[in-house]
Amino acid sequence: MTIPWARLSVSWLGIVHYLACIFPQLGSVLYHLFMNHEGGPAVYRTLLTLDMCGVCMVNTLGALPIIYCTLACAPFLRTVALLSYSGLSSYGIFCAVTARSSVRRLQSFAWQALFRFFFFYLRWVGLGTGHPSSLRSYLIMDGLAFLGGVINISRVPERWKPGRFDYWFNSHQIMHVLVVVSILYLHWGVVADLQWIGNYVCPME
Ligand SMILES: [Zn+2]
Repeated sequence: MTIPWARLSVSWLGIVHYLACIFPQLGSVLYHLFMNHEGGPAVYRTLLTLDMCGVCMVNTLGALPIIYCTLACAPFLRTVALLSYSGLSSYGIFCAVTARSSVRRLQSFAWQALFRFFFFYLRWVGLGTGHPSSLRSYLIMDGLAFLGGVINISRVPERWKPGRFDYWFNSHQIMHVLVVVSILYLHWGVVADLQWIGNYVCPME
């Protein structure tokens, strides 16, 4: 509801961002809701793939408006960058859904993160464009998501007091809360960028 639809010059950016925010919530909710299944490993793997797809969607679709706005005045490079990121993401999704451990699963998102950090760097040194406040939001976003991933695989705090955190405050719950806050930062950053690009006129060469 806070996406500036009426002022969007490029409408697919709004749609892509909307889907990026919605997919991980759907994937994770379905995964946890059906955790009481009795279908064995096959059903579990399907549910886990659904959960992973949500994470992959926010990683992939979420970054497209960031890349678009960073290269707002370089249409050719922008297209190359968007296609490269989409290609890299397809590979990342394949690695994530076929990963055999949670460490491997986290690693499969590393290339996408590096790609995003290159774009944050472009903004930071002034080569990339975008709303001035967005870079801060994106850095917090990736920081929180990374922290969530590390807490999830490190099994902290339940590894220190087994049994005490079975219902509340276990690593997996902390990770989910951090991911939701991370998506909020993505949203704030992208909304600022979309408002910015609606008013921005590229300087003449
Ligand atoms: Zn979960």
